[in-house]
Amino acid sequence: MTNHQFTTQIVHADRLGGAEHGAIHKPIHTSVQYGYEKVEDLIAVFQGTAKGGFNYARQGTPTTAALEAKITQMEGGQGTIAFATGMAGICAVFLTLLKAGDHVVASQFVFGNTNSVFGTLADLGIEVTMVDVTDAANVAAALRPHTRMVFVETIANPGTQIPDLEGIGALCQQHGLLYVVDNTVASPYLFRASSVGAGLVVNSLTKSIGGQGAALGGAVTDTGLFDWSGYPNIFAPYRKGDGKGWGLQQLRKKGLRDMGGTLSSHAAQQLALGAETLTLRMERTSATALALARYLEAHPAISRVLYPMLESHPQHAFARKHLKAGSWLLSFELRDAAQCLPVCNRLQLPIKATGLADSRTLIIPVAHTIFWEAGPDVRAAMGIADGMIRLSVGLEEVEDLLADFEQALAGA
Ligand SMILES: *Cc1c(COP(=O)(O)O)cnc(C)c1O
Repeated sequence: MTNHQFTTQIVHADRLGGAEHGAIHKPIHTSVQYGYEKVEDLIAVFQGTAKGGFNYARQGTPTTAALEAKITQMEGGQGTIAFATGMAGICAVFLTLLKAGDHVVASQFVFGNTNSVFGTLADLGIEVTMVDVTDAANVAAALRPHTRMVFVETIANPGTQIPDLEGIGALCQQHGLLYVVDNTVASPYLFRASSVGAGLVVNSLTKSIGGQGAALGGAVTDTGLFDWSGYPNIFAPYRKGDGKGWGLQQLRKKGLRDMGGTLSSHAAQQLALGAETLTLRMERTSATALALARYLEAHPAISRVLYPMLESHPQHAFARKHLKAGSWLLSFELRDAAQCLPVCNRLQLPIKATGLADSRTLIIPVAHTIFWEAGPDVRAAMGIADGMIRLSVGLEEVEDLLADFEQALAGA
């Protein structure tokens, strides 16, 4: 199956683990306990000598395992752990792989809730330095003797900044640092983080991969590129077997079994179904977003449009080289910030809501909502103007969206 193309692999992934009763979709397994005829088989699952066995659903079920296998294929990795939400996956990465005294270099443009976790880490004695990751030199300058991890996002929200992903990958390789890439917005269809040397890839399945705004989920994929045998924070029980597997073993035991942010089988099945249409949705929404971006950039009421596939985008050259398309994420600024709320209200199709990658277009004024708690200083540092509006472009017909913007911007 591995020699097939991306979408072919995704739609046939469920059957690879063995079709039950000929079922084409992986069934929803609701059992919490898994029993065995012989106690030796149960022991083998506990001791990790039986590949793929289940014992208690907090560590996974056949349904979540099928989703994990699908994400692993999508990211081209060696294994994946599914979580209840993207944030559960991100917290598991930080809390199980870092300890007091460690240092992390992270993007200053990260998702707001990830930024909030950095404050929690500081109180636990794990320091995070946030830098402008669009230049790998800023990451290099922030490194310290105890730096363990570099954390970036492929396309930042709402500003659409793209890090120097290759340069940072080379730096991490050179210094033996764990390179963690949150690939939520781009998704593995638009960008494979393993191509720039990422050791772990995070996806909020709630967004691009699930795609319907109907189920929460998260995933952490090990690309197989990081050598865990040199990583000091692996507990003794997980230093067994090939060093390549140590990180995921620790993440599943400490992150899932102990912390308990487990994805339900019901949500896993819904997300797996959404994943089957990832390619179609990313192509459609990216094409619509680009058309809207070009329209908005030419409109006199708009001062700035942030979209990676516009020639005016600071990382456009990288985007053209590495991303299949620009994604559904598009932000723009009104020349007159006072028009921000009236324009949102005049738009008929986009739903005034937070959230990303739904089938429907969602719109939100950024400074008044998702960056309100951050305050004016942080907003200024992150380049978030009072007139900034974020769009998550949905599956509507592009003509309908363009006509709606035309009427809403008239007189703005
Ligand atoms: C939404 C989001 C998350 C968190 O995912 P949830 O599933 O909502 O917990 C993490 N990273 C990025 C980039 C996101 O957009």
